Amino acid sequence: MADLDLRLDRMDQLPGAMARTAARDVRTLFPESTLITLEGRQKDPLFVSALIHGNETVGWEALKKLQAWMTHHPLPRSLLIFIGNVRAAEQQKRMVPGRPDYNRIWKGGDTPEHALAARVLAEARAARPFAAIDLHNNTGANPLYALVHERRAPDLQLTSLFAAHAMWTRNPPGTLSEALSDFCPAITAECGHSGIAANEEAAFNLILDALHIDHWRGEADLDLDVYRVTGRIEIDPDAAIVFEHGAAGDIELPASLEKWNFFDRPAGSTFARLLNGKDVVRVCDDDGRDVTEDVFRREGDRLLLTRDFTPAMLTVNETAIRADCLGYLMEKA
Ligand SMILES: [Zn+2]
Repeated sequence: MADLDLRLDRMDQLPGAMARTAARDVRTLFPESTLITLEGRQKDPLFVSALIHGNETVGWEALKKLQAWMTHHPLPRSLLIFIGNVRAAEQQKRMVPGRPDYNRIWKGGDTPEHALAARVLAEARAARPFAAIDLHNNTGANPLYALVHERRAPDLQLTSLFAAHAMWTRNPPGTLSEALSDFCPAITAECGHSGIAANEEAAFNLILDALHIDHWRGEADLDLDVYRVTGRIEIDPDAAIVFEHGAAGDIELPASLEKWNFFDRPAGSTFARLLNGKDVVRVCDDDGRDVTEDVFRREGDRLLLTRDFTPAMLTVNETAIRADCLGYLMEKA
């Protein structure tokens, strides 16, 4: 829709009222997407983004903690902060219905959202960031982990400030951190469920630690599990999904599916049941190639894993499954 004019605002401080403002009221302070520049001792900024998904409030809450910290401490490094999808935040939704997902617009496209993303990216590139962190929450139950797009020591060091797991992937296409990884170390920090104080604290600590890094260490010095994504699991949008044994549907998944996240699943174990014989599961690798046959084999109505895999981001939330995907299968890299 060319009718929507998305403005990009600029500020050089965090508004004082932020401390008392919930993410859903973000537009009282940031009526439009905003880039905020804060000066610190080291000039190449840390890029931090929040509310790329409107219902994932961890970044907003972490910035409020940062603002409180800044009242007593000078910034060791400059910050370039992007407040993303304020309209979706106002609606407490991942994205505005009928509009693009703000974490899929960073690789070119012809909507007003893509134009906004291109402007932000050009400014970020020109600022020569030291590193970049995009803060998100998860729908499913997952430990803290980060997405990295290049297997580089700085990207992994950023991850290790925050989590024990790095998920190495370029999928799905058009994410903010992947675009940023073209010109600086960049991660998506996946901070667990929204509204959990410990997750907000973890996100704040990540920003603080990253602000204090003055050199990058080698990968060998890091205590981190790195997983390569083998494929993204998609379910046919028309398929009836059931989580209860014996219920009628096209695909039966275990109700406890999310407990598999970041735990190893052995070769030959059952992943799902296909109840009507219809192939409603598709797995695609980072290049969009169909790798379903490579990761699953059929035995009767069961879908079995062909090798040992570690799942991640599995969710039982049907809206998330249909809007995004069921989850990912990974292998140690
Ligand atoms: Zn998100």
